[in-house]
Amino acid sequence: MGDTLFSNKDRQQRLSESQTMTYDIIIIGGGITGAGIALDASLRGLSVLLVEKADFASGTSSKSTKLIHGGLRYLKQFEFCLVKETGIERAVVHKNIPHLVHPEKMLLPIVKDGTFSKLSASLAISVYERLAKVPKEHRKITSNKSQTLVVEKLLNPELLKSSIQYSEYRTDDSRLTIELIKAARREGAEAFNYLKVIDFKYEQDNVRGVICKDLNSDTSIEFRAKQVVSAAGPWVDKLREINKSKKGKTLQLTKGVHIVLPSNKLALKHSVYFDAFDGRMLFAIPRGKITYVGTSDTNYVGDKDNVLCTEADAEYILKAINTMFEVGKLRKVDIISTWAGLRPLIHEDGKSPSELSRKDEIFVSNTNLISIAGGKLTGFRKMAERIVDLVQEKHSDLSQESCKTETYKIHSDSFDNYQAFESFKNSILTKYGSRGISSYDAWYYTTTYGKHARNIIEDALQLPIAIEQALLKREIKYCIQYESCYNPDDYFNRRTGRIYFDIESLRDNFDFIISEFNTHFNWDSSELERIRLQSIKCIEDVTIIRP
Ligand code: FAD
Repeated sequence: MGDTLFSNKDRQQRLSESQTMTYDIIIIGGGITGAGIALDASLRGLSVLLVEKADFASGTSSKSTKLIHGGLRYLKQFEFCLVKETGIERAVVHKNIPHLVHPEKMLLPIVKDGTFSKLSASLAISVYERLAKVPKEHRKITSNKSQTLVVEKLLNPELLKSSIQYSEYRTDDSRLTIELIKAARREGAEAFNYLKVIDFKYEQDNVRGVICKDLNSDTSIEFRAKQVVSAAGPWVDKLREINKSKKGKTLQLTKGVHIVLPSNKLALKHSVYFDAFDGRMLFAIPRGKITYVGTSDTNYVGDKDNVLCTEADAEYILKAINTMFEVGKLRKVDIISTWAGLRPLIHEDGKSPSELSRKDEIFVSNTNLISIAGGKLTGFRKMAERIVDLVQEKHSDLSQESCKTETYKIHSDSFDNYQAFESFKNSILTKYGSRGISSYDAWYYTTTYGKHARNIIEDALQLPIAIEQALLKREIKYCIQYESCYNPDDYFNRRTGRIYFDIESLRDNFDFIISEFNTHFNWDSSELERIRLQSIKCIEDVTIIRP
């Protein structure tokens, strides 16, 4: 099946049409939570509008560790229900979008004075596997010290005692969010990025719409709905303030940072879940040309729209790597990119950031604004189900169809299963390898766009220019036409992840990319200069580590 057009080029017309509607639901926030709700509600036959103040997935949903996981460590906090729900969800999301959710073996080294002994790790993983219903063939493998060093030779032999490997899944959080929004639109929803909710509309003391600022035209626009749902992540309390309903439980934001190293600086064969020196645990995840490591977990009270990696964050993660792995001494100059995000957690008196629950929480205000915060990327589908059930319960006049997302294929041209994806990826290399498509290209384009990779590559091969730029040209065109990509930052970051995983490709082709965008949007010279400076800043934000 082909893609549905989703472009900011016809934005004004779509905005005008949306203003004439009374939607069943308006969703505030285009992160994974809002995207999941939009898809669930549309599939049940509800009319849906989603508005996002910046780019889709620009909040926490592009800053996670990018794991589809149940969270082994939450067992220590006795969060059995959370681990069970997200543990089971892993396989569901994998089945529903195989090219974006990859099985990943996680290596847990057992070390001197570490979080887990061999016995406690083995018990915890057995419980995890039972809760998550992991099939026998994918269950844990235990190795002694010398076997572990064969599997992962960079581990520090002074600390290492043994290890356990268990099954997880890896994804790309912002691509998953974009694919959910595209799927929701395919099922009838409407969605806009760069539309910020600044106030609510009320009728008889009930929230019945939103007033937005269109950040592209600087104009104010109103939309109506029977129900408004705020899935604004770290900004949920800000909207509750606007709604004058910020009472009782409130959010506590904690910051999590990841650093990116070139593969040759930390050449891991496997993902590793390892002890830092302070009782916390970090992930090191090899992916294509790089390995990323994180995360820190510290209280945050600064600017939510500008969360950056500081020297202290970077030094913390580097110290953890230098303790656990024998890689020479890694230093700040080795870091090629970073990302920093905020966990919207529910405040509990006396608990440290790492002890706070990762469970989601639903708030309903006395003017009937529904807000949802907390939770995990992995649990988006179940969170959405709970919200749409609640909306239906409150509005008996709406469609009362039940949730349909458990078996719904999210991508418009989905693979039946993971094997089909693997064969497709290999066939791309076989077919186009001799025409300049590298194995990295085949991996990158198929894991990013699924079967649509073939169209991008075939179109690129028609162009009479160097293959690298031809691919960029066709990728940019695809993102603008089908993924509501509005500026180079959207492309660098949320559509492609190049800013983290292949930053050299952006540096090498910076002017080409900006001019390519300009051929689509035809900006005047001052707007073009503004976009150019904004794009430089966006690269600086992930590469310059602030004091
Ligand atoms: P967000 O993604 O922040 O989305 C909220 C959106 O609302 C934002 O895009 C924002 O711009 C928009 N918004 C706010 N105000 C307005 C307004 N006024 N008008 C319009 N739009 C508005 N989970 C996992 O399952 N696996 C992991 O590996 C994992 N790792 C993590 C690592 C870190 C460091 C962090 C911080 C979190 C991690 N999580 C992980 C948790 C997961 O990332 C979050 O639970 C999830 O992304 C939250 O999504 P969300 O949609 O609720 O919030």
